Amino acid sequence: MQFIDLKAQQEQIRPQVDAAIKRVLDHGTYIMGPEVYEFEKQLAEFCGVKHAITCANGTDALGLGLMAKNVKPNDAILVPSFTFAATAEVVAWMGATPIFIDSLEDTYNIDPKSLAQGIQTARKLGFNPVGIIPVDLFGQPADYDAIQQIADAHNLWVMADGAQSFGAAYKNYKVGNIGDMATTSFFPAKPLGCYGDGGAIFTNSDELAAIIKSLRVHGQGSDKYDNVRIGMNGRLDTIQAAILLEKLKIFPEELIARQKTADAYDDALKDVVRVPFVMKGATSAWAQYTIRLPKHIDRDKLIAELKDAGIPTMVYYVKPLHLQTAYKHYPTANEGVLPVCESLANEVLSLPMSGYVKFSQDYAATIKRCLL
Ligand SMILES: *Cc1c(COP(=O)(O)O)cnc(C)c1O
Repeated sequence: MQFIDLKAQQEQIRPQVDAAIKRVLDHGTYIMGPEVYEFEKQLAEFCGVKHAITCANGTDALGLGLMAKNVKPNDAILVPSFTFAATAEVVAWMGATPIFIDSLEDTYNIDPKSLAQGIQTARKLGFNPVGIIPVDLFGQPADYDAIQQIADAHNLWVMADGAQSFGAAYKNYKVGNIGDMATTSFFPAKPLGCYGDGGAIFTNSDELAAIIKSLRVHGQGSDKYDNVRIGMNGRLDTIQAAILLEKLKIFPEELIARQKTADAYDDALKDVVRVPFVMKGATSAWAQYTIRLPKHIDRDKLIAELKDAGIPTMVYYVKPLHLQTAYKHYPTANEGVLPVCESLANEVLSLPMSGYVKFSQDYAATIKRCLL
């Protein structure tokens, strides 16, 4: 059994993917070929957002957003601590300061109370808070109504890190159509993944979209050889766009299959362990199915037992960012301790998840036996 079964997915669409790659080899426009523009069009339609701009990976998507917002040293950006490093890394790229925020006990997403505290902390330390990067952890959107209310009160922008949540929704909004900007990743293991690196940034603002498109190609102006701003080389390969067009066709069915798998896990495990909580009005793309273990369970021992039974697991994340070497000198919302993040890091365990998990009574019974 695989933790994320990309092989079973490839078997479903291999001939279509081969044909798509062959078309790119035939036309030879490897950079910004027609598939890139077609994929951007379909992405925007899928999310119901005005602009979808593809880029090289999900980290560059976040970086492009910060560059477009002209983030400067002395600016502070509020980010969750219980996330993948990229969310805070891009803030440091700009010479700005990430302020680490605690997580909610139920969804594990950014805690609005801690967020408000973080804004005060940023000001107290002499920084200028300018924006928030909420993360849609494990596939579930953060609580954007609560976040937007705080952002509005303090005149901050919101850039949603949807690297794990492409395909999910918050109330009537699809991920991608949330906040001033939203980003996603097409890393192979993400809900919609390519066969390499890829990412996208979304916005309803014509102005931001034009700046991001320029930044993606070295800050190019209307004359290709007159660069009007400092940018980067952040383009998505045509071959990856061609692959993603094929994967997007089966993605809605995969989302349904992921939800079915999550429901089956819930039914099997809810009496023995804390199963994921999805907010009313939200859906998850189920990037991960993450259980939370009671304190008496030895996680390392459980991981070994599951492994012996042929069931791979992962711990996302062993260490919150505010405790990691590269990030521990940055401020936290409340003086160094983020209690929820710290207990999550000790208690979470992610089980195999994809649209291709073969769920059976036997499988459920094996996990349950290891848990008891
Ligand atoms: C994967 C991920 C990213 C980075 O995406 P890449 O495509 O790997 O650069 C950013 N944020 C979060 C929360 C992620 O999970």
